[in-house]
Amino acid sequence: MAKHTVTLIPGDGIGPEITSAMRQVVEATGVDIEWELADAGEHVMGEYGTPLPDYVIESIKKNKVAIKGPVTTPIGTGFRSVNVALRKALDLYTNLRPAFSIPGTGARYEDVDIVIVRENTEDLYAGVEFEEGTPEAAELIAFVAEKGAGTIRPDSGISLKPISISGSERIVRWAFEYALANHRRKVTAVHKANILKYSDGLFLRVAREVAAEYEGRVEFEDRIVDATCMGLVLRPDQFDVLVLPNLYGDIVSDLAAGLVGGLGIAPGANIGAEYAVFEPVHGSAPKYTGQDVANPTAEILSAALMLGHLGEREAAQGVLAAVKAVLAEGTRVTYDIKRTNTGSTEGSVGTQAYADAIIEKIG
Ligand code: NAD
Repeated sequence: MAKHTVTLIPGDGIGPEITSAMRQVVEATGVDIEWELADAGEHVMGEYGTPLPDYVIESIKKNKVAIKGPVTTPIGTGFRSVNVALRKALDLYTNLRPAFSIPGTGARYEDVDIVIVRENTEDLYAGVEFEEGTPEAAELIAFVAEKGAGTIRPDSGISLKPISISGSERIVRWAFEYALANHRRKVTAVHKANILKYSDGLFLRVAREVAAEYEGRVEFEDRIVDATCMGLVLRPDQFDVLVLPNLYGDIVSDLAAGLVGGLGIAPGANIGAEYAVFEPVHGSAPKYTGQDVANPTAEILSAALMLGHLGEREAAQGVLAAVKAVLAEGTRVTYDIKRTNTGSTEGSVGTQAYADAIIEKIG
């Protein structure tokens, strides 16, 4: 029997190609994994009537660990997002997105080593929205006026931003525990508490309370989100672990991906108390579907995070070392890496050939 059973969700667009590359790389490490295929995304809607069939959730609940490719967010179907639904269904409250420099990516910086810890279940992603022109929106606008809480134009659509004490407490604690376990120096809480007093203000207050418990063990500071963005671009080495509410976390993690070479190499993980789902930061890049050109690095590095989570540290390090070696050589890299390095895609290789180069290094 396999040592680990992992749910595999290939997803939409470039998902099947990059997850296939990832799977081959993981198998090359010799780790014993049984892949339980449970697909989700736009392309399964015809068969199941939903992009997220129940059996996918059941499979993850059984196996506790899943790795997925990106899925396309269906537009105009009433289904918001598979990713948001998955994170909610499994209470995957942490979105971990490390951004670290790898020589050979052609990135603007060489000394980035940042870990983004994004809250994954609330904030503007809670999905509580009122469409412009509906009786519900009108009622809410009237309620706000009646309570003297402010004036909202009648032709407004409204999205609510709930941030709770419990939600903030567990994500900040997770960030500190991560910092301790991974020998990190500092946690920075990122917010806009000067303007959003009751949501971000609460997040900051809770962050300070939790930080006090770690005093002397992990440094703490807080920063306003706009200043954080400026600071990241100016001098990224001043940051270590960042903990952010959902929306800022989403935006700042793409910014951080840009500092280290782009979306093609940015891995991620969604982690809860019971389950973990690993996935790249990027989306399904529909225009590259089936062309064997997408960069599978982000998916492969997400698998390295997964191997670490499964306790397979040596295999995780082996995958990372092999990716680094291939990027450092710079001869067998995908179009995006080639373009950042040389300004042209000339001489780049496809998804499979790049995966083969990594497998060669592991071997
Ligand atoms: P995207 O990440 O798919 O693409 C942004 C840009 O980066 C495009 O130019 C794309 O070609 C490029 N790119 C992305 N991944 C790449 C890779 N591995 N190799 C080379 N180039 C790559 O973002 P988008 O276009 O905004 O979204 C497309 C779809 O993906 C949407 O439906 C969106 O909702 C969905 N999405 C899903 C996830 C997820 O499943 N976790 C995350 C983000 C977006």
